[in-house]
Amino acid sequence: METLTLAKTPVNPSSQSFGQPLDLSLRIRSIDPALDLEAEIIRLKKERNAVILAHYYQDSDIQDLADYVGDSLALAQAAATTDADVIVFCGVHFMAETAKILNPDKLVLLPDLDAGCSLADRCPIDEYSEWLKQYPGHTVINYINSSAAVKAVSDIIVTSSNAAAIVKQLPVETPIVFGPDRHLGKWVEQQTGREMVLWPGFCIVHEQFSARKLAKMRTEYPNAQLIAHPECEEAVLSQANFVGSTLALLNYVTVQTAQKQFIVATEVGILHQMQKARPDAEFLCSPPNSGCDCASCPYMRLNTLEKLYLCMRDSQPEITMPEDIRLRALRPVQRMLDMSKGLSAVQQKGD
Ligand code: SF4
Repeated sequence: METLTLAKTPVNPSSQSFGQPLDLSLRIRSIDPALDLEAEIIRLKKERNAVILAHYYQDSDIQDLADYVGDSLALAQAAATTDADVIVFCGVHFMAETAKILNPDKLVLLPDLDAGCSLADRCPIDEYSEWLKQYPGHTVINYINSSAAVKAVSDIIVTSSNAAAIVKQLPVETPIVFGPDRHLGKWVEQQTGREMVLWPGFCIVHEQFSARKLAKMRTEYPNAQLIAHPECEEAVLSQANFVGSTLALLNYVTVQTAQKQFIVATEVGILHQMQKARPDAEFLCSPPNSGCDCASCPYMRLNTLEKLYLCMRDSQPEITMPEDIRLRALRPVQRMLDMSKGLSAVQQKGD
């Protein structure tokens, strides 16, 4: 079996462009500083019959303007059922692509087309297709954090919310290939007792947490519980009191009312919803290997209020893809939605 290793160098968010309009910075500078951006975005939303979907890793001002805030599964479910004419996806490219896969006739907008994903970038379709040839007869399961082209060669798409539950639904004798996140794959193996062939991808945000610094931090905060996302390394997950998807982590802190302090090992954007759900609790960021204080996804942070306003005003940048890829990608995405009914709840504004 061929061993594949992937470069660990962080990917510059702007290094992969999906066709970003070149005049974006000029358009941002042309916005009247006196304009009430929030009010304009709300006005445009009504005028265009648009829905704003925001991932938990978006800045808090964007989360507060969204109609739906959720993780990848919840937002895919929201995208599958919306009757809006325009979907404005405040997240990263693969999420907006998933919305387009489900809604070919709707206009799907992403505030910044350079909002990619290190994990999706490390699973290029050419290399992945070649690698898959070694595993004929395997069921190909791919994390939603992958391009439409990779989804198109998959049998089932999963998210961190439903990956273990979906794998458990497959007959035990089914051989499985799992991509592109090796840590999530390993965690699913532990949860299900199934062995899978893993593509060696990883997320630069979740892989940067330092298990050594974390162990030290836990001695400084002996009463804090560690909660972690399964994209983290095993050395971090093995220290955790609870491991789960972003939504599961939010649900956990919401119900653990006796617990007043949490160390959070995932993207820092979720702290906004955690603090709203538990104003009486303290949330500490798990320490990263680098010198910065928090784990902030550089791709997610490319979306700003200004870019959200511009994309709604100008109806661009738009997500597009070849129809044959969309149709092939739709099948495994739809299979995921069918196999995960009742597994997740989207958070709608006002809930
Ligand atoms: S946090 Fe990691 S997996 Fe999520 S979008 Fe950012 S780079 Fe991709």
